[in-house]
Amino acid sequence: MSLLVIGSVAYDGIETPFGKTERILGGSATYISLTSSYFTDDVRLVGVVGHDFAKEYHDLLKSRDIDLEGLQKDESGKTFFWKGRYHYDLNNRDTLDTQLNVFEKFDPVIPDAWKNSKYVALGNIEPSLQSKVLEQVESPQLVVMDTMNFWIEGAPDALRETLKGVDMLVVNDSEARELTDEPNLIRAAEKIAQMGPEHLIIKKGEHGALLFSGGEIFSAPAYPVLDIFDPTGAGDTFMGGLLGWLSYTDDLTPLNMRRAVIFGSVMASFCVEQFGPERLKNLDVATIRGRYNEFK
Ligand code: AMP
Repeated sequence: MSLLVIGSVAYDGIETPFGKTERILGGSATYISLTSSYFTDDVRLVGVVGHDFAKEYHDLLKSRDIDLEGLQKDESGKTFFWKGRYHYDLNNRDTLDTQLNVFEKFDPVIPDAWKNSKYVALGNIEPSLQSKVLEQVESPQLVVMDTMNFWIEGAPDALRETLKGVDMLVVNDSEARELTDEPNLIRAAEKIAQMGPEHLIIKKGEHGALLFSGGEIFSAPAYPVLDIFDPTGAGDTFMGGLLGWLSYTDDLTPLNMRRAVIFGSVMASFCVEQFGPERLKNLDVATIRGRYNEFK
């Protein structure tokens, strides 16, 4: 089934205790698309890059068969830039810089042929852009949204508005608490359900993820990775694995949603092994299935 992805396509500067890189491919939509491309061959990417976006990165997305008809190039500005620093506790990071650049005046237009998209990933980006994309999709089967503190604090009203049209929210524990002003995650989940999403996933970094759905809570551990180099993109990769599996199987039963959470965790476990999206460049289905079975 088709999977439409909107989110940031970015340059990232990353510092972890194990290394540093000034400028590497990043962005929520990049991670989601690369990851889901291992599950479905109909990934449609909506976003914008600036005049400085390297052909090498464009070619990388193309090499994974990601449809780039909705990826605009704005020659008048620079690509979105984000800089972050991690400490030994890799669950926490400091954002050092966020430059929206070409996203500031981005007006997403979905190609006509994409309006029938069945699965929609509203990756982390300004909530009003997420809404603009969603409005153009005719009758999606499942809309999944991610966001972060930057938007919870910076665009709270637009975020609440977008949430009304969302079926599943995927956030980390601190974001769930901040969004609801509620320290207890069970109560936070109840409050989020009242904002719109019927299903909720709360990610807890190396401690796994909780799926709240149909009045039940499913708790999945994270895959125990020995050498974590860089957690950047792990959340987006989780969403790519989750939606990749759901769009591939086109099955939204409770059991299959739980499997999707495990595929999300599996893909995130690959992502953190190398810098940026490096590890997502050359995976294969057998390796992914192997880790899924090990996980089971
Ligand atoms: P994650 O580690 O999964 O939370 O996502 C990391 C990615 O999010 C990086 O590649 C960044 O480029 C991107 N990112 C960081 N801040 C923002 C933001 N405010 N809006 C959209 N994307 C962002």
